Amino acid sequence: MNNSKIISIILVTALLITGVLSKDGLRAYADTASGSSVTPTESASAVSASPTATEAPSATTSASPTASAKASSSPKVTKTPKPTKTPKPKKKKKVKKPAKVKWIKTTYRDSRKVTLTWSFTKRATGFLIYRKKIGAKKFKLLKKKGKKHRKYTDTKVGINKKYKYKVKAYRKKYKQTVYGKGKVKRYYNLNIVKTTRQKYSYDMMAADIHKLARKYPNRMTYKVIGKSEDGRNIYDVILGNRYAKKTLLFIAAIHAREYMTSLLAMRQIERCMQEYNYTVGGTKVNYVLGDVCVHYIVMANPDGVMISQNGFTSIRNAKLRKKLYKLGPVNTALWKANARGVDLNRNFAFKFKKKGKMSSEGYTGKKAHSEKESKAIVKLVKNLQKYHGLKGVINYHATGSIIFGSVRKNRKYTNGTVAMYNLARNLTGYADAGSYESSDVSDAHGNFREYAMYVKKIPSITLEIGKTPCPLVIKEYADIWKRNKNIVIKEAALF
Ligand SMILES: [Zn+2]
Repeated sequence: MNNSKIISIILVTALLITGVLSKDGLRAYADTASGSSVTPTESASAVSASPTATEAPSATTSASPTASAKASSSPKVTKTPKPTKTPKPKKKKKVKKPAKVKWIKTTYRDSRKVTLTWSFTKRATGFLIYRKKIGAKKFKLLKKKGKKHRKYTDTKVGINKKYKYKVKAYRKKYKQTVYGKGKVKRYYNLNIVKTTRQKYSYDMMAADIHKLARKYPNRMTYKVIGKSEDGRNIYDVILGNRYAKKTLLFIAAIHAREYMTSLLAMRQIERCMQEYNYTVGGTKVNYVLGDVCVHYIVMANPDGVMISQNGFTSIRNAKLRKKLYKLGPVNTALWKANARGVDLNRNFAFKFKKKGKMSSEGYTGKKAHSEKESKAIVKLVKNLQKYHGLKGVINYHATGSIIFGSVRKNRKYTNGTVAMYNLARNLTGYADAGSYESSDVSDAHGNFREYAMYVKKIPSITLEIGKTPCPLVIKEYADIWKRNKNIVIKEAALF
């Protein structure tokens, strides 16, 4: 517009100077030039119209030679526009927006992958896929996809995170891009095992085992290896290849008030499943678990755990309950034994010597393996040793942040114990428990670790998690987790 206006002004000035233009003509010309509906080229052509042109204001017909000369300096003015080339008004063509994405489906692939699929969407040229963490302000664009792809796999999903995904269609036409309305879908990639509650109960554990086994059917399974004195299941959770030639056994919560070891065990199991196709500290999880099958007795003393968490009322068998009440006032939160008042870690057939009477801790029971819980454990150990190449036993206790790994010299179990012990110390940073254990193991009557090593000739260590007195407070869990999360995979990789 500017160029033509300048040219027009020059023209008009020239005409005025030469005195050819009449007042009326000037007004008429000005009207034309400022007319909003007339494009610059149109007005220019009107001006440069040949002297014979009749439509142009009368005055222009007698354009002087100077005027035409000046006009010719602009290419726009001199070029006679071809009718076909006449540009159309620059008014944008209206492009209809694509439809709204009607639905999004999320499909769990693994702990780090989710696949989104969405509805066919009319007029879409393609799609934009966004994601945000729940609570975050803005969506971030993850991917732009063509129309034929109504599917996208996000491979960077965080463990135990909540997300919102958004998919919207776009359409490109006449050099414009327009967008349809977005559809939002929530996706929660949360852990099954929750680590926020102080009391991780037997029922929670049982429910979580079932959920995990359903979620990871090809990676883990479980077996009930026996019942407790009060009829609860003693679970053996089996990780990896059940037909592997080597096995490693973990045992947690043989002492009741140390129930945080069960919570740790369950999260360790879940982590093995979540990281199954990935590496943990440079170790390929599925590779290790394909070779070494891990068995985990996650709650060896379920009745005792119930007593420690909820008191004697949690014992369902009336006879057992009556006997327990006969003990008089007891701080049940500190309970270590089973429902018959037997300390299971004094009940194994290693230098067994009957000692004490029914109580919260220290009672050996009438004879070795007198309790249903110890019987189930011994039976599993025998079975694993005989048929599945049992290579080691790791016991989880609390408290102390120490590791028991002392061992008498014997080629069968010394090397394995030392290797497991050194690795566990490196990973956890826990101290050596040497000073807590007498060298002649005289204090270890009925202990399971000593039973495993000296009776069954299987390498064995004991880890004592936590720092505060038992039952450990949930606040300690984060630190315990950091130190122990890789133990299962790393210890299994030793064999
Ligand atoms: Zn203990």
